[in-house]
Amino acid sequence: MEKTLSIIKPDATKKGVIGKIIDRFESNGLRIAAVKKLQLSVENAKKFYEVHASRPFYNDLVEFMTSGPVVVMVLEGENAVLKNRELMGATNPKEAAPGTIRADFADSIDANAVHGSDSLENAKIEIAFFFANTEIL
Ligand code: ADP
Ligand code: MG
Repeated sequence: MEKTLSIIKPDATKKGVIGKIIDRFESNGLRIAAVKKLQLSVENAKKFYEVHASRPFYNDLVEFMTSGPVVVMVLEGENAVLKNRELMGATNPKEAAPGTIRADFADSIDANAVHGSDSLENAKIEIAFFFANTEIL
């Protein structure tokens, strides 16, 4: 059993597809172990995406991630990190496989509906960024 962090990004919360995205996880063997809706501060968005600080899209990414509410979740299941990445599809929705979350709900490479941890190591760090152990059930 693995745990991974998922974020439903502001474009998707604004569109009203929170339930549809959560259904993709629950219908594919990923259990919602923790969930909350929140507004990211600029400070927290910068910290969360610190690995991308030197990339040209960093400021736009922080601006986008703070443009509206997000839903952060801990997903649990077998191979949860990889399974979530498969369900999400490629970063650029134009390249995302049919039937993936990004193919179905994302508009562009920056407003791409969901975040998912890219490794088990990063999943642990990202989960701890948002949740106390007592909130993960
Ligand atoms: P992923 O979210 O698929 O793991 P990355 O970790 O590479 O992708 O990038 C983090 C986020 O930064 C992406 O989900 C996307 O919102 C944004 N991003 C990545 N590449 C670009 C780009 N070339 N232009 C604009 N935004 C980008
Ligand atoms: Mg990433």
